[in-house]
Amino acid sequence: MTHPSVPSVLDQELSRRLWAKLGEGPFPLACQWELTCLCNLRCVMCYTDCFNTPERIRQELRFHEIVRIMDEIHEAGCLELCLTGGEPLARRDFWDIYAYAKQNGFLVTVFTNGTLVTEQIADGWVQSPPSMIEISLHGLTKASFEGITQGTGSYDRCLAAIRLILERRLPLTLKTTGMTLNRDDIPAIKGYVSRLGAEYGTTVHYKFGSDIRLRLDGSEDVAQYQLPADQVSAIEEADPDFHAERSRRNRQEEESRHQGTTRCGGGFHRFHIDAYGRLQLCSGNREASYDLRTGSFHEGFYDVLPHFPCPHRQPPEREELLNIQPLARRHDPREVEAHG
Ligand code: SF4
Ligand code: SF4
Repeated sequence: MTHPSVPSVLDQELSRRLWAKLGEGPFPLACQWELTCLCNLRCVMCYTDCFNTPERIRQELRFHEIVRIMDEIHEAGCLELCLTGGEPLARRDFWDIYAYAKQNGFLVTVFTNGTLVTEQIADGWVQSPPSMIEISLHGLTKASFEGITQGTGSYDRCLAAIRLILERRLPLTLKTTGMTLNRDDIPAIKGYVSRLGAEYGTTVHYKFGSDIRLRLDGSEDVAQYQLPADQVSAIEEADPDFHAERSRRNRQEEESRHQGTTRCGGGFHRFHIDAYGRLQLCSGNREASYDLRTGSFHEGFYDVLPHFPCPHRQPPEREELLNIQPLARRHDPREVEAHG
């Protein structure tokens, strides 16, 4: 579940120009689709794991429903599709869903934990490449990695997947959610990713995030893994790339505040669909939903979504007044999502 909550594979400048051309009105440009809460791992900080039960999985969208909704999104002009979970590759029909998205011309990003990536899957991606594959790398030792995923053998399988992908020169981003469990490992993980790129003669992107999200059932036990703000700042200050990224985000926020605009495209250019076909502003705000099983995407996006509330769209001073706590703050659509 980590990296931009709705990632954009479009170049930032291209995105800016495209959005400017689209004008003031809403337009459904990018979708993050949580295909399932099913996963073969049980990461300690996972917000979807509570819904990884047989009863819940039975309620998830079926393939024919996904196809129907995807057709509607395509018809509406959407360009980007981020397929996430849970673990999307844990769905038996993942490849059919992926292939259908590619046939429809979507720019597809896949969030995966990597452990289910086989040679066959990697070869399939060579034939029909994703715009980006994002894999969470929680640690550099079996003990630290599997202490988080709680999956025996997951460390070796994840590293094997990374190599399968790089051998085929597919686009790859590795990402880490900094937690109390791995805070001291971040510089080493980033260094490892950089060496991987050099070894394969390619760029392996790396993202660092720090937000631990409440579980979907509202449980707050995951709060124990959240790094305090001063420790996140210390990590970011110590690394020039992280520091530059933080400065860029701060500048954007400042600019938005001056312009009096909202700081995200949730419900405007971006949207989220959960595993049950519910249309939402973003992955981090599921307080209101529109049911795509019974309604049309066009009605949901244009007539209903714009009226969904989001307290995080307030200026920061207002957030203080509203007493929005850090663990509930999910207002940065570029924040790393640990999923996959
Ligand atoms: S791999 Fe992702 S979906 Fe699976 S348990 Fe870990 S965080 Fe959750
Ligand atoms: S401001 Fe609200 S809608 Fe936008 S990304 Fe944050 S939580 Fe989602």
